[in-house]
Amino acid sequence: MSQFTQTIRGYASDHGMSDEQVIKCIKSGELDGYEDDGTWIVRFEKVAEQTKIDSEPKESPYIVKDYKGVRAKAQELFLKDAKKLAKKNYFPVSETYEQGTWGCGSFVLALLLCLIVIGIIIFIYMIIVKPVGILTVTYKYAETEKLNKPEGKLCPDCAETVKYAANKCRYCGYQFKKK
Ligand SMILES: [Zn+2]
Repeated sequence: MSQFTQTIRGYASDHGMSDEQVIKCIKSGELDGYEDDGTWIVRFEKVAEQTKIDSEPKESPYIVKDYKGVRAKAQELFLKDAKKLAKKNYFPVSETYEQGTWGCGSFVLALLLCLIVIGIIIFIYMIIVKPVGILTVTYKYAETEKLNKPEGKLCPDCAETVKYAANKCRYCGYQFKKK
């Protein structure tokens, strides 16, 4: 156990312990000291002895725990857990926070969502706004009716052609019906 005689120091507040708790721990022998500047001292040797006395078989004197969350949330979880572990004579030695990173899949998903959102906007635009259309008109050549009209009319009596507007045949005197 001699390899665990390393001394650790820390502020009680850093480890989620109130000053009262620290004083209690010093009295009970869990902590080795409490300095004027507010730091407490604990030796691993002491911890190891304590563990022996408790006769709880421990596989390792170290417990490594991960607390997931943003920095503040992880810290909060750590402090809560540290309180529980302090009762079992485990005290935090070091802590590191590794900033999480978005996975490659998250980026692809985000990109896809971007495309989907843009696609939906385009789709809505397509429904609301009609595109520019083309009006196709077919023209057919046709002579005017005037040109098709005969210049004169046929007299039913003498079969001579007289002017279209005539009321009376100029050859036989036949009287056309007035329109
Ligand atoms: Zn006539």
